[in-house]
Amino acid sequence: MKTTLTTQSRLSQVDFNNLEFGKNISDHMLVAVYENGKWGEPEIMPFGDLSLSPAMLSLHYGQSVFEGMKAFRMANGNINIFRPQRHLDRFNRSLDRMCMPGLSMELFLGGLEELIRVDRQWVPGNDGASLYLRPFSFASESRLGVNISKKYHFIILTSPAGLYQPKPYRLKVETNYARTVEGGTGFAKCSGNYGGAYYPTRMAVEEGYDQILWTDGKEHEYVDEVGMMNVMFMIDGVLVTPQLNTAILDGITRDSILTLAGDMGMKVEERKIKVSELEAAFKAGKISEAFGTGTAAVVAPIATINIGGTDYTVQEPGPDSFQISVKNLLKEIRLGLKPDNHNWNYIAKL
Ligand code: PMP
Repeated sequence: MKTTLTTQSRLSQVDFNNLEFGKNISDHMLVAVYENGKWGEPEIMPFGDLSLSPAMLSLHYGQSVFEGMKAFRMANGNINIFRPQRHLDRFNRSLDRMCMPGLSMELFLGGLEELIRVDRQWVPGNDGASLYLRPFSFASESRLGVNISKKYHFIILTSPAGLYQPKPYRLKVETNYARTVEGGTGFAKCSGNYGGAYYPTRMAVEEGYDQILWTDGKEHEYVDEVGMMNVMFMIDGVLVTPQLNTAILDGITRDSILTLAGDMGMKVEERKIKVSELEAAFKAGKISEAFGTGTAAVVAPIATINIGGTDYTVQEPGPDSFQISVKNLLKEIRLGLKPDNHNWNYIAKL
C-alpha cells in the first residue's frame, strides 16, 4: 500500500494515563477515493487537513456514514481488532441506505490492519484502554444540485481511548422529538441521525437529565434506544431489550452481550417494550438493572428514568450484577484471557 510516513510524530505529546476520548488522533490516516464507478488504491499518509470542495455534496445533502470500533492490546502483546466483519456488514448496510458505494473486506480490513501496523505504538496497553477506530465515508463530488454523488472518500482515523466509565445516567423519556422513525435512517450510522439528536438532548440536559430514552417516532409508546447506545433492562430476572427495527441501530455491543447472556444461561427477550410496561415494572419493583450498551463504554448504568413526570430509580449495579459480569467477560475475551468461542477477535498481522 502506498505509504507516506510522518516526519514529526506526535506520539510523545500524548499522555496515555489521561486520554480524553477523541482528542488525540494518531499520526497517520488511510484515504481512498471512489470515482468512475470504483474505489481507487488506498493510501496511508500523515494525519492532516485535506483539500475538498465547499460544494461537495455531503456537506449539503448529507451522504455521510461512519463506523466506531476498537482495537485492543491483548495480554500477549498482539493487537486484536474486535468483530471487523460485523462492523463492515453494518457499514455496508448504512452506505447502501444512503445510496453510497460499499466496501470490500480487503479495503476495509486490509486498510485497518495496515494503518494499525503503521501506528501500532498508538495502541494503548493500560487497563480498559483501546485504540478507537473511525472508518467513514462521504460524498465528495463538487456540484450544487440534489444528486446522488458520483465521487466519495473513504477515510480511517484512529485515536487512543482510555477507560470510559460514565456515571449512572439520569434519563428522560422523550415524547416530543424523534431521533428517527421506522422507515427512516435509524438503523444506518449516518451523520444526520447524530446532528438531529443534539437539540432534544440539549433540552433534556437543560431539564437536569444526562441523556434521552428515545421512543418510537410515531406514537412515543415503545422504547428504542438510549442516547447513542442500545438499551437493556433486567425485568423479573429476564434480560429484555427492544427488538431491532429500521429505527434502531444494530449495535455490535448489543449483539455481543446478548450472545454472552445466552452462553451464561440467562433468559433473553428481544421484543417491543412499552414505556407503560417499564412504568408498571418499576412500580412493582421488578427492574433490577437498566443500562446502555455501546462500543465506547461497553455498558453504561442507568440510575434514573423520568416517565411522565415521575423519576423512577434503579439501584447501582454491584460487582455481581449482570452488566458488570458481562462487561468483565467481554473484556477478558478481547484481551485473550478467556476463550473467544464466537471468533470475535481478529489478530492483526503486524
Ligand atoms: N445506537 C446508536 C445510535 C449508536 O450511535 C451506537 C454507537 N455506535 C450504538 C447504538 C451502539 O452500537 P455499538 O455497540 O456497535 O457501538
